[in-house]
Amino acid sequence: MADLLLGALQEPEGASAFASRAFGLMEELFPICRSITGNGVRQTLDIVGREIPLLRTEVPTGTPVFDWEVPREWNIRDAWIADATGRRVVDFQRCNLHVVGYSSPVRERLPLAALRAHLHTLPDQPDLIPYRTSYWREQWGFCLSQRQLDTMPEGEYEAVIDATLADGSLTYAQCLVPGESREEFLVLTHVCHPSLANDNSIGIAVATLLARALLDARPRLSYRFAFVPATIGSISWLAGNESAARALRGGLVIGLLGDPAPLTFKRSRRGRTEVDLIAADVLRNLDPASRVVDYSPYGYDERQLCSPGFDLPVGRLTRSSNGEYAQYHTSGDAPALMDHRAIAQSVQALATILARVDANERLRSLSPLGEPRLGKRGLFRSTGGSAPREFEHALLWLLNMADGTHGVEDIAAASGIARGLIADAAQVLKMAGLLEAADGPVARKAEERT
Ligand code: ZN
Repeated sequence: MADLLLGALQEPEGASAFASRAFGLMEELFPICRSITGNGVRQTLDIVGREIPLLRTEVPTGTPVFDWEVPREWNIRDAWIADATGRRVVDFQRCNLHVVGYSSPVRERLPLAALRAHLHTLPDQPDLIPYRTSYWREQWGFCLSQRQLDTMPEGEYEAVIDATLADGSLTYAQCLVPGESREEFLVLTHVCHPSLANDNSIGIAVATLLARALLDARPRLSYRFAFVPATIGSISWLAGNESAARALRGGLVIGLLGDPAPLTFKRSRRGRTEVDLIAADVLRNLDPASRVVDYSPYGYDERQLCSPGFDLPVGRLTRSSNGEYAQYHTSGDAPALMDHRAIAQSVQALATILARVDANERLRSLSPLGEPRLGKRGLFRSTGGSAPREFEHALLWLLNMADGTHGVEDIAAASGIARGLIADAAQVLKMAGLLEAADGPVARKAEERT
């Protein structure tokens, strides 16, 4: 099998070394205060852009994107709550989760009783600071641990958020990895969360280094890596890249790749596309504890890519689904939560899925009018009546499904016959002149007909 693309990363040792580098990059990305717009995203892309060539897009505030509109740009310089003595009891400089993302600016003295309306805590997890945002409703707020709030005496406090909400733009970036074919596979990850490790500093780091690895390889397909803010960012990306999106061979939304939960693949809305079949098989082989779940309209950016007007062949690879781990969207989602073996296993899964998609060239029968006579070519046993052997089954499945839209992976999944045997049978049929690769020649043949 030609599964050699990213071969080293498919093995535990290579994936482990990759995971160490991804962890280092994750630590560098972690402290940045990101949001759906603003300089935090740009700073993040500066770091990503050091590793791989990026095409950046700035979508101006007010731009209509399908049913949405790009919001004003948010930038924050400093924020704190100070007590009567001027001492900062809550300080954005210590942790950027302390400020509700997209908070409007404020500078106000108010008693604790009034301040409480602007404070968010997690009474059930009293040591953790929650992560909260308010993108579409203008308000301000602070997040802190319940324990910290419990130490704040009644009295007057000063609340300051030195931020701007102003016309600007939403930033996203893409890295294009050219292959022999112009057909593209998408890897998309979100870049809008502030200091959270699993969600999604590690996803950005893995996507970046995976793009680097593919740039250094010789892929058959082309790859498009998209680094976008969640929801409004992926909607903006779809609006700005509609024809490329519609032409995608397949894709994966990736994120939350470093927590100890088992690997999870969420199928595309269509459910049985190439990436669905391959990812399910890769996860099954890699770890019996891994999970394959059907599409649902809740989650990350697959919600946009699999909206009915696009219905793209894109699944999602993650570990925990949203909210499945206790530290989700809290200060507990810190680098210490990251599990090296989990990152390495995520990398192995990604590399293997990409390699198998890359190798899965579509096949076309050169004798599709009735079954070709295999016996006269020495490919079928000459005595009729007995059941065909498995190899003969493989020949029949191939000749029937090789209509230019299926490859070895699809045929193995449909027939239940081992992929290796289908691949061997495909070779035999190619040598017999009964089968050809359809990926490249399709366009040429279409031209020849006109
Ligand atoms: Zn999140």
